[in-house]
Amino acid sequence: MAENVEFNALESNSNAVMAIADTVRTTLGPKGLDKLLIDQAMNRHVSNDGVTILLSLRAIHPVARMIVQIAERQEQLVGDGTTTAVVMAAEMIKDGKRLIKELGVHPTKVVEGIESGVKHACQILQKEAKKIALEDIMLEQIVKTSLSSKMDGQKLSSLVILALRSVGQAARYNGSFDFDKSIMVIRRTNMEDRVVVGVVLERKRMDQEMPVEINHARIMIVKMDLKPVKEAWLKENSKYQEILNMENDRLTKSKEIVDAMLATGANTFLIASPEVDQVVEDLLASRKVFAVRISTDEIEYLSRYTGAKPVRMVDELKRSDILGKADHVTEDEDNGVVYIENGSGRNMVTMIISGTTKETSLERWRAAIDGVNAAEAALNEGIVAGGGAAELHAIEKIKNLRLKGLEQVGLEVVTSALESIMRQILTNAGFNGLEKVMAAKASPDGFGIDIDSGEVADMWKKGVLDPVLVKTMALEAAGEISKSVLRIDRNLAAEDLSQQAVSETKR
Ligand code: ADP
Ligand code: MG
Repeated sequence: MAENVEFNALESNSNAVMAIADTVRTTLGPKGLDKLLIDQAMNRHVSNDGVTILLSLRAIHPVARMIVQIAERQEQLVGDGTTTAVVMAAEMIKDGKRLIKELGVHPTKVVEGIESGVKHACQILQKEAKKIALEDIMLEQIVKTSLSSKMDGQKLSSLVILALRSVGQAARYNGSFDFDKSIMVIRRTNMEDRVVVGVVLERKRMDQEMPVEINHARIMIVKMDLKPVKEAWLKENSKYQEILNMENDRLTKSKEIVDAMLATGANTFLIASPEVDQVVEDLLASRKVFAVRISTDEIEYLSRYTGAKPVRMVDELKRSDILGKADHVTEDEDNGVVYIENGSGRNMVTMIISGTTKETSLERWRAAIDGVNAAEAALNEGIVAGGGAAELHAIEKIKNLRLKGLEQVGLEVVTSALESIMRQILTNAGFNGLEKVMAAKASPDGFGIDIDSGEVADMWKKGVLDPVLVKTMALEAAGEISKSVLRIDRNLAAEDLSQQAVSETKR
């Protein structure tokens, strides 16, 4: 009886995990199915994206919420492989629970086994990973594999590959590729998909009177205060003469600032100042220069792209190195975006991702980013055979390690998780997953099952390839969740835990 009480938490927690894993497992792989998400207002959206689906679930079990968090973290860290992580976590928990409940193994032993299994599996995968270069055809295959299950995956892959190749080696920072810094991805509902070599700001120029286009732009990034006299000062003052003085002051000072800005030779202003006086704006418009507001977040990359150094103080206007350059700055008035092309700084590319509705553009945008992330991971850490093949063939190698008794326990938890990926991908493709996995197991390294024919095939030849980082992160994430879930022996109803934390820190 007592035992049953003990295992109730494990039972209910693991059921919760299975339930949530079941909602996404059928999306895994290129033949995965979509989910129809419906909210309370009956808004509908079709999705194939693990994170999108998990994040949109309402009212879920607290343990299941842990899964959502891990999936989110996976998404943030590598930007792909979330479904993989969830499927493996579910498998680890299912198997771990069996060891604990049916064979009476102590949970801490199982947890240690998982830890050691994950560590060894990651090492094996890393050792096998093959390095690739930007020009390799394998980079394209990585992107295509990563987007194979996405809506419009074909078209998005070509866009992603075009973006990667256009930015090229300029995306390298301290030796590794960092596309966050060099490929911007924006989503629009009213524009065509496009890769722009340059920066696209989702903004309009400050004033209709300004020119829509500047050739040979000399660019200034303005951070300094462009409101010499504050409105509050005027409001607080009741004396007519003083208000008049201040108004005059405002005009003179604004004119001085604008003159000094123009004296630098700049004809394009990217303005991140907290406040801009209307007079300053009017003066800039009357001088026929181009000015657009930007946010402080945008300063960094705009500076990198154009070579302009942000100006914080009026004094700095005298410096000769503050201006940046771009061949072409223009506003697309119909779409309300500004293009900055051929900057003289570091190369950048912007992908414009479209969609007929907000949700589809969001889904396609996420997919495009997944593709870029997969490429980054592949270039930095190397690649392995996809379709679950690398995971499947790692099993033999882990078993061959002949680990010591204690570590051996729970190791099979990890190996069955490794097997579950191929099984799920094939089940989703309409095959008998288990049978096919057996066939693949007997085949050489790098071989898996062709998703169309069901025959054993070389994944390298087929170009079904995955970044090793996505695999190792997914394994680690799955290990983390399963360890926490298996360690819990009871769920207790608690007082408000946030309150408790507050009173503890106060002491
Ligand atoms: P995740 O959210 O985990 O990234 P996906 O639905 O994107 O899930 O599926 C990724 C898995 O699908 C990877 O294991 C990948 O190798 C596999 N995959 C992609 N294309 C193919 C293919 N043509 N044949 C077999 N497996 C594939
Ligand atoms: Mg994916």
